This record gives sequence, C-alpha cells and structure tokens, in this order.
Amino acid sequence: MNAVAPSGGPTDARKVRDAWVVCGLLAAATLVNLLLDRYVSVTSQAMIYVLAVVVASYTLGWLPSLFSAVAAVTLFNFFFIPPRYTFQVEAQENLFALFAMLAVALVISHLGTALRRETEAARMNERRARQLQELATDLAAATLPAEVHLLAQRHLGRAFPGPCVVALLDAHGNLQLQPEQESSYRDGMLACIREAATLGPGTGRWPGLHAWYLPLRAETHTGGAACVQNVSAYDHSGREHAQAICAQAGQALWRLKLSAGMHEAQEQSQWHRAQSTFLAAISHDFRTPLAAIMGAASSLQTQRDRLPPPQQERLLATILSESRHLATLTENTLQLVRLDHAGDLRMDWESVEEIVGSVLARVRQRDVAHRIQSRVPAALPLIKADPVLLAQLLENLLDNALKYSAELIELEVALKNHRIELAVHDRGDGIPAGEVLAIFEPYRRGDRSGQRGAGLGLAVCRAIARAHGGELSVHARPGGGSTFMLELPVDVAQPATESA
Ligand code: ADP
Repeated sequence: MNAVAPSGGPTDARKVRDAWVVCGLLAAATLVNLLLDRYVSVTSQAMIYVLAVVVASYTLGWLPSLFSAVAAVTLFNFFFIPPRYTFQVEAQENLFALFAMLAVALVISHLGTALRRETEAARMNERRARQLQELATDLAAATLPAEVHLLAQRHLGRAFPGPCVVALLDAHGNLQLQPEQESSYRDGMLACIREAATLGPGTGRWPGLHAWYLPLRAETHTGGAACVQNVSAYDHSGREHAQAICAQAGQALWRLKLSAGMHEAQEQSQWHRAQSTFLAAISHDFRTPLAAIMGAASSLQTQRDRLPPPQQERLLATILSESRHLATLTENTLQLVRLDHAGDLRMDWESVEEIVGSVLARVRQRDVAHRIQSRVPAALPLIKADPVLLAQLLENLLDNALKYSAELIELEVALKNHRIELAVHDRGDGIPAGEVLAIFEPYRRGDRSGQRGAGLGLAVCRAIARAHGGELSVHARPGGGSTFMLELPVDVAQPATESA
C-alpha cells in the first residue's frame, strides 16, 4: 500500500541529514578542486562548486540549498582565490567573478528547489488520483454503511498523518462515535454537518481549529462526518483530497440509502399486489356460497309454510353444504396466512394414528358411499407436528379424492427410511403432466376440474408439508388415477414414553 501522506515540516533528524549532505557535497567539491588544482583553471574549479550547489538544491529543501550556495562561494574564495587561505580578494576582477558565482549559485538553488517541489507535487497528485480511483472501486462494491465507514477511515488514514476519525449518522441523526471520541470530535463534526461545509485551517470557517472537519455529503444528504488532525492551512491540495475522499464516501452512503428505499418500496408494492390479488380471489370465492346460503335461508323464512317438506330438505341441505364449503375455504385461507408466519406453528409430539383416525371420522361423514379404505400400521413412531394443520392437510387430500374420483380411495400409511409416508390413492382422471406443478400454486385449478373449488387446498397442503420439514408430491397411478404422497421426517430421538 502506497503512503500518500504529504511531507510535513522537516523533522530534526531530517535537518541533521540535510546538514550532512551539504557538508559532504561541499567537502567533495573542495577535495576534487584541491586534487585538480595544478591541472585546471579557477573557472573550472568554480564550475565544480556550482555542480555541488545544483545537486544540493535538487535533493534538499530551499534553506539547505541556499546555505550550500553561500558556503560554496565562501569556500571557493578561501581555498582558490588569491590570496589563498584567506577570505580577502586581491583583484577586483576576482571579486566580480565571486559575486557572479554567488548570483548563479543562488539562481540555480532557487530553480532546483522549485523543480524538486513541482516534481514532488506531481508525484503526490498522481498518487492521490490513484487513491481516489481505488476508493471509487472499493466503494462501488460496498453494500453496507459500515463498509463505507471502514473504507473512508482507511483511505483518510493512508492520505494524512492524522489521526483521522470518521463517524456515520444513524437513522435518528445521531453521530455514531466511540464514547472516548465523543468529547473531542462531536461538536466539530456536528458543526460541519450543520454548515454543510469543511471547517478548519485554510477554509475561512473556524480557522482557530487544528483539524479539518468535513461532512460526508452528496446532494442534500449527509451521511456522517470526518475529522483530519494535524493539518496546515497552506495545504490546499491536501484539503481538496480530503474533501474528495469524503464526497465519495458521502455519495456511496447516499446510493445505499436510495437503494434501501427502493427495495422497501418494491417490497411494499409487491405486498400490496399480493394482498389485492388475495382479497379479490377471496371475495369472489366467498360471494357464491354466501349468495346460495342467503337465497335458501330467505326462501325458508318467507315460504316455509308453502314449501313441501322435500324441497325444505333440499334448501337445508344447500345451506349445510354451502356453509361447509365456506368453512373449508375460510380454514384454508387462514392457514395460508398463518403459514406465512411459520413461527406460529404449535409443534408437539403427535401420533400419526390418532391424527389419521380423527380425520377419517370427520371425512367419513361426507363419504356416504363408504369409498375410503385405510391401512395404518400399528406402533408408528411419534412425529413433531402441528396436529390441526396436519389433519387439515389430510382432510384436503381426502376431500379432493372424493371430489375428483368416483371409485375406491385408499389411504395408506407406511414407515420407510426414517420417514412416514402417507399416500392417498384414487382412480380419478389423474393430473395431466403439464398441470402437476401448477396445481400446488394458490388459486390455480386444473383445466378440466368440473368440481367447484378455489384452488387453495393443495397450496395449503404443500405449505403445511414443508412447514413440517416434509414434502407433498403427486404421481400418476398405474392403472389410472393419482397418488398424493406426503412424506414427513421422523426424529430418531423419540420422547420417553410415560409409564401408565
Ligand atoms: P380445488 O380443489 O379447490 O380446485 P386444490 O388446490 O385442492 O383446489 O386442487 C387444485 C387442482 O388440482 C384442482 O382444481 C384439480 O384440477 C386438481 N386435483 C386436485 N386433487 C385431484 C385429484 N385427486 N384428482 C385429480 N385432480 C385433482
């Protein structure tokens, strides 16, 4: 990871190092000149000192390079301008040459320092641009505000010597700061959020601060604030870089907020759509039996004396069967809603034989032709189940078999591979292969169903089966008809049986 931290003021260690570099360069130039003294002219020796000044000004700050320019001219005068080994200058011409050399050395040291600064600034800008690009890529992949927080904190930490602190606003508009950070950062952060601008050195706002306070802001939305400490009022490009990091983080937070809002709106509209489909289907299915009940009841009320007993019986039978239909419809609808909240299931250890027995007792009242036969083995293990729901599942399957077939119906229970299998076999028309999936969807009816129904029964059955960790499927029966197969898991660990 590249550090993007700007070079701060020179440290003591650096000052010492610069002094050594200046001394070394000037000592080397003097040594070379002394060695070449017999072979080269004074002009060439002056050039060697100028070279030392060029190197110093390109590698060091402006103060050491200025010092090296003055020192080079002084050393040149001392060692090589007659009278040698004194600071005096004999000839006027030499004095002029010394001044000219001083001027050249100063100009070169100034140009060298400026060039070095520009090169450093260009390198810094390049590193910062690369960092912003990297941050943009990281933020694009962020899916949670906490990730944006982490990224902003990490990138500010890399860009500035700091310390840097980032805090997000929670849903109630409170800054999420660590308790130990509260007193130091809260006021500044809240102020920059309120003013929607950077505060601190060089900003013209709150210049007395020693840190920049920056809002994480995009459009009109502020998602939090950052604080960057130990900054300089003159570091304009550093401030712009901090602002760019905070703006990117603000935009990412704004994007997350927008997409969360969109997701919520989508869910709500889906829920409203489902609700209205549900209500439309319910009201349609409830209206027909209700109309029949009301018609039959009002005929009985107004014309009972005039109606012959068989017709009265027929009307009463209509009321009973329509009420039963309404009860089934209501029960299935309620269970479908209830199964949406699977947490409401009242699971307990239950005996399959007992559930099957109670269902058969009820259904057989409607099975006037005694078509249902059952085979339930003894000593089946107990299962964890909601008995009301499981009974309803079985009742729906048996009712369907009675409705969609005219021959014998077999209810078969078996224990296979730690699963209890409940199969309802009938000899009806069967289910066409293309409808096998659709009939388990709510409000979906078979194309050729001549019988009345709402298309809810099998949807409820499958939801009940799955809520018990099981599965409901349908298969074509060899020889015609269908087999509806319910498979339920059996816990290996059974409850301890109570001694009588
Ligand atoms: P409904 O019976 O109210 O239509 P269901 O969800 O119980 O709703 O059944 C959906 C469809 O599945 C029925 O419309 C029918 O076409 C088909 N179906 C259900 N059980 C049987 C069966 N035992 N034999 C043939 N078709 C059946």
